[in-house]
Amino acid sequence: MSIVVVGSVAFDTVETPYGKVEDALGGAATYFSVAASYFCPVKVVAVVGDDFDDEHIELLERHGVETSGIERAAGKTFRWGGEYSLNLNERTTTFTHLNVFETFNPKLPESFRQTPFVFLANIDPELQMSVLEQVEDPELVACDTMNFWIEGKADRLEELLQEVDVLVINDDEARQLSGSYNLVEAATKIRDMGPSALVIKRGEHGALAFFGEEMFSAPGFPLEKVADPTGAGDSFAGGFFGYLARSEEQGAAALRRAVVAGSVMASFCVEEFSLGGLMDLAEERIAHRYRAFQLLTDFGDL
Ligand code: AMP
Repeated sequence: MSIVVVGSVAFDTVETPYGKVEDALGGAATYFSVAASYFCPVKVVAVVGDDFDDEHIELLERHGVETSGIERAAGKTFRWGGEYSLNLNERTTTFTHLNVFETFNPKLPESFRQTPFVFLANIDPELQMSVLEQVEDPELVACDTMNFWIEGKADRLEELLQEVDVLVINDDEARQLSGSYNLVEAATKIRDMGPSALVIKRGEHGALAFFGEEMFSAPGFPLEKVADPTGAGDSFAGGFFGYLARSEEQGAAALRRAVVAGSVMASFCVEEFSLGGLMDLAEERIAHRYRAFQLLTDFGDL
C-alpha cells in the first residue's frame, strides 16, 4: 500500500560538534519520504522555491518517490537552522524561515486522492488538515508536529488531532502538548485528544509506543559515529509508517515491528549530515541492522 505525505522540504543550516552544513537538503517530508521509500511507494506533497535544484527532485525520484505533488513557487524554499550541544541531546533552533510555505495552498494531484495511508509530517497544522481533507476515506492517518506549531497554532493542532489515528512526536513535544512531565500520564492525556496510538521518540534513548492497553519500548541503536541528529525523528516516522503500509497489518505485533523499523531508519540517518546516511541503502543493510536490534534486547527466558 502507498503513503501520501505532506511536510516541509527544506534547506537546513546545521552545526554539530562534528561539522557544519549550509543550505543542505532537509525538511520533514524529505527525510520521511526517503526513509519510507525502502518499504512502500511514497507520494509527496510540498512546495519549494525557484532556488530549488532539480538534482534534489532527482534524488527523491531515484528512491522511487512520486514528486508530482511538489509545487514550485516563486520565492525562496523553506529554510531552517539548528545547533546541537556537545552530547547532541539538545538542539537550539537558530532560525525558521517559512518562505514559500507561508502562502502554500496544497492541491493534491488526482492520482494522490485515494491513497490509503496518510502521513502529516511536521508543517503548519492548517496545511496538514487541508491535505487530509483532500484524501478520500484514508485507512490510517498519522501525524507529527513540533514545539513551533504547539506554541503557534494550538487550536488548529487540537482540531487536527481529532482526525488522527497515530501521533508520532518527541518527548519534549509530548510534555508540552499534554502539560504533564510524566510520559505515561502525558500519553493518556494525548490519546484522549484523538489519536488511538501514540509513539514518543526519545532521541538516543529510543522510542516508547502506546497502543490499545499495551506499551512497547525500543532502544536507540548504540552507534560509534553520530554526525548529525537532524531528521532522525522524520526518518523514524518514515520507517515506522512505511513498515505499517507494507505489512498491511495494524495489530500489536505489527506496531512493535514498525517501531523497530523506524528506529533502524533513524539510526542510519544520524550517521551522516543531511540525507547522506539514508542514500541508496541496500535491503541487506536494513535487514542486518533490524537483526542487530533484535539481538540487542533479546535476553531469553529466566
Ligand atoms: P527532526 O530532526 O526530525 O525534528 O526534523 C528536522 C527537520 O525538520 C529539518 O530538516 C527542518 O527543515 C524541519 N523543520 C524544522 N522546523 C520546522 C517547522 N517549524 N516546520 C516544518 N519543518 C521544520
